[in-house]
Amino acid sequence: MSERHETVIVGGGQAGLAMSHHLSRLGRPHVILERGRVGERWRSERWDSLMFQFPNWSIRLPGQAYDGGDPDGFATRDEVIGFIERYREAIRAPVRTGVCVTSLGPSGGGDSLRLDTTHGPIEADNVVVATGPYQEPIVPTTSRALPSEVLQVHSSGYRNPGRLPAGAVLVVGSGASGCQIVEDLIAAGRRVYLSAGRHRRYPRRYRGRDMFWWMEQLGALDQTLEERPEARERPNPLVTGVGGGHDIDLRCYRDDGVVLLGHLRGVIGSRLHLADDVETLLAAGDESVAVFTRAVDAYIERSGVGAQAEPTPSSPAPFEGPSIRELDLEEAGITTVIWATGFRRDLGWIRLPVLDDRGEPVHRRGVTGCPGVYFLGLPWLHTLRSSVLCGVGDDAGHLAEHIASRVAAPAGRRA
Ligand SMILES: Cc1cc2nc3c(=O)[nH]c(=O)nc-3n(C[C@H](O)[C@H](O)[C@H](O)COP(=O)(O)OP(=O)(O)OC[C@H]3O[C@@H](n4cnc5c(N)ncnc54)[C@H](O)[C@@H]3O)c2cc1C
Repeated sequence: MSERHETVIVGGGQAGLAMSHHLSRLGRPHVILERGRVGERWRSERWDSLMFQFPNWSIRLPGQAYDGGDPDGFATRDEVIGFIERYREAIRAPVRTGVCVTSLGPSGGGDSLRLDTTHGPIEADNVVVATGPYQEPIVPTTSRALPSEVLQVHSSGYRNPGRLPAGAVLVVGSGASGCQIVEDLIAAGRRVYLSAGRHRRYPRRYRGRDMFWWMEQLGALDQTLEERPEARERPNPLVTGVGGGHDIDLRCYRDDGVVLLGHLRGVIGSRLHLADDVETLLAAGDESVAVFTRAVDAYIERSGVGAQAEPTPSSPAPFEGPSIRELDLEEAGITTVIWATGFRRDLGWIRLPVLDDRGEPVHRRGVTGCPGVYFLGLPWLHTLRSSVLCGVGDDAGHLAEHIASRVAAPAGRRA
């Protein structure tokens, strides 16, 4: 085999670049293989109007912090791409773009690893899989029963309202993606139906500070799954940076003509069957706001940190909409369904015993039981911040130290 590297990083997103930074810092040679361009998912799997969910001051990768003029503002998708692109240049990351890794397995001899790529095989002592926390779109099986004339698109394929056929749009899923897309459609004057799901609301700002600032103060971003096992099943926070950032309460969408629906249960012909659970979902969203504000109040009380007083929030208006259990797509004029229903991992190309029965990586802070194989950038790799831009650097540093001590050990005694 002609090509060989000490370490190959698969994936040239923020995680792969942070890994490269730390390996270079320790003087360890490596290469990044990226099937598209650097930051490809921010470029081609996010909609045009997407805004970064956390304030600009929180944008940082190891060795590079936000240095623009609007620290409390929110970055556009292009600004995030620009930040990542500048980072790649600043750290002189050895990225090879347009190279897809199609399999990872043991090599014929010794304890090295073999990668098959679209540009030929490569051998490596170490491989860091940094292919993203959100990979394959999840589209529920219900989608197969939808009439063929209805356009279906996952949130990762949605770009802007202008690309959709005329008519009303059904958005399925009320997480951060679903709600940003609903607002994009409202702004374009579209009639929107929103099939809500479990969501966890946060006030954008509370007692004079952004929610992300409070999350850092509370130490919430540094919690591990061992400390908070129940967090694995929790939906991601429902926050937005659109329009300078604002609170999201699904009830408010009704003022813009959005029809709020419960969970989508099934489709028969052109009729949607829906659960009668909007009120329950909204109540759970309200509870998450209350849990957060109580935690902040208690923190202010015990730490004495200076904070503004907050006007007593008015209790949320009850959901008074009619409970819709059936909806005819044709009668409602719905021509598009957008699935904002999340992602799963796509690691079937890894032919090593590092995945469990569900195809999820088995690891301890990214270090697997298979010597030289590592994961980076996954949700809860170590803490809540592991899969977000400002958090991936710490885990990358940890893995780089592990790799450096591994390669320093005599061959045959490498962990
Ligand atoms: C809609 C959405 C909005 C988000 N908004 C925010 C936000 O506001 N703030 C925040 O901090 N986080 C946000 N995130 C979470 C996270 O920061 C992003 O998902 C980010 O893209 C993760 O970076 P990454 O480098 O870990 O993975 P990715 O950006 O997914 O990069 C992985 C790279 O690997 C490449 N790749 C994959 N497979 C292969 C292969 N076999 N061979 C070669 N290359 C391969 C891909 O092309 C890709 O470029 C958001 C996520 C989503 C889905």
